[in-house]
Amino acid sequence: TETLHIVGGGMAGSEAAWQAAEAGVPVVIHEMRPKVETFAHRTGNLAEMVCSNSFRSDDHEQNAVGLLHWEMLQAGSLVMRSAYDHRLPAGGALAVDRDPFSEAVTDRLRAHPNITISNEEIDTLPDDGRWIFATGPLTSEGLGKSIATETGADALAFFDAIAPIVYAETIDMDTAWRQSRYDKGETEDERKAYINCPMTRDEYEAFIDALLAADKTEFHEGETAGYFDGCLPIEVMAERGRETLRHGPMKPVGLTNPHQPDVKPWAVVQLRRDNALGTLYNIVGFQTKMKYGAQASVFRMIPGLQDAKFARLGGIHRNTFLNSPTLLDDQMRLRSRPNVRFAGQITGVEGYVESAAMGLASGRMAAAEILGRPVPAIPQDTAHGALIHHITGGAEAKTFQPMNVNFGLFRPVEGLKGGRRGRRDRYKAYTDRAKAAWSDWLTAQEAQPA
Ligand code: FAD
Repeated sequence: TETLHIVGGGMAGSEAAWQAAEAGVPVVIHEMRPKVETFAHRTGNLAEMVCSNSFRSDDHEQNAVGLLHWEMLQAGSLVMRSAYDHRLPAGGALAVDRDPFSEAVTDRLRAHPNITISNEEIDTLPDDGRWIFATGPLTSEGLGKSIATETGADALAFFDAIAPIVYAETIDMDTAWRQSRYDKGETEDERKAYINCPMTRDEYEAFIDALLAADKTEFHEGETAGYFDGCLPIEVMAERGRETLRHGPMKPVGLTNPHQPDVKPWAVVQLRRDNALGTLYNIVGFQTKMKYGAQASVFRMIPGLQDAKFARLGGIHRNTFLNSPTLLDDQMRLRSRPNVRFAGQITGVEGYVESAAMGLASGRMAAAEILGRPVPAIPQDTAHGALIHHITGGAEAKTFQPMNVNFGLFRPVEGLKGGRRGRRDRYKAYTDRAKAAWSDWLTAQEAQPA
């Protein structure tokens, strides 16, 4: 039987290896640690939890991540079984004793007769053989470059850059105004898509001073490693020169302030609509590493935002991820190189559980392909299926950002009450439907001849 190569023995790679090996396929896991380290991992164990020790809600009826737990357990998941074996008391959450957990996963994989573990970094996308790349948010630099060469640099992100989001009703429209730069747009709605906040020279200078003085979270050592220019934090831009922002995201060109048509603003902060309802606006280009307390007070210095309330503050994290909607097919294969699959956080899901789940799916798909028994498509109404559908086609490719599993990804169940009051029944209906579809999917695979 052909060997399946899995690069990266994290949450996704470990689960993918287990699923394929259990199906009878020989597997080699290529894991670069402990020879090559990342800034976040501490050990040489497989499936190391790099930060919190929580697998989040374990509610199998009312919560989408809890549903993912359930589906994984039914499919014999090694990661999920080991998490339960090393569970710590934490109310409704599945908290995990991290070291015994990852040691258990490592031991089970090492002991499996179909699995070999090779401690090495792989830094190219191979032409031959069957591969799953599950190298995670901290994919090594060499491999990141190879992937960017294959996919085009724009289709691989190295950071998720989160701009702060403001509740529209808290913006002072006696100071701010709606207009897109150079009045661009086909429709009136598009020409008014942005909200603009003007600054005088004094206001701009005071704002730069505040940015430079604000408390910031530092990047971890090694976190920025050679990448990073596409999404500089605003305070770093300000450090590069007091005028940099005025020539970047705060440039005052192509805009006329209807409140003061004769005064040319020295700088303009733009906000862009963030949801279809128009209740939320993000501040364009304002990703930042300022601490949360500092962000609120610095951003309220912007004229028009003096009373702003924030739905979410900004942030920047190291996170390597693909523009999966344009790059991957529904079997999680690279369209341009179908012998290569991706799995885990690099596919644009977010979190330990989601990453392990994408490992489970890709491991089964790859094994089935090798064994010559195609896997029936994972039903879209399951938690696994909803995530795969989202990353491989359902999401808007242009604005693709990593996604947690949530009921917003599920197709509606017909005939149920909407709104807050119907929520419990609705969630129960989603999980019931998912469980039935997942059980059928698993049964269909078991029924296939070996
Ligand atoms: P990983 O678990 O990171 O596994 C990838 C593996 O690939 C690693 O073992 C790495 O050493 C290896 N590797 C990388 N490049 C190569 C190569 N070229 N050759 C061979 N091996 C390679 N998620 C949460 O749910 N909760 C949190 O609290 C949380 N905190 C986080 C904090 C930080 C700083 C970071 C960076 C991420 C955090 N995440 C958190 C996200 C978390 O990393 C993922 O949810 C999860 O670990 C992703 O699983 P994965 O298998 O895709 O990647």
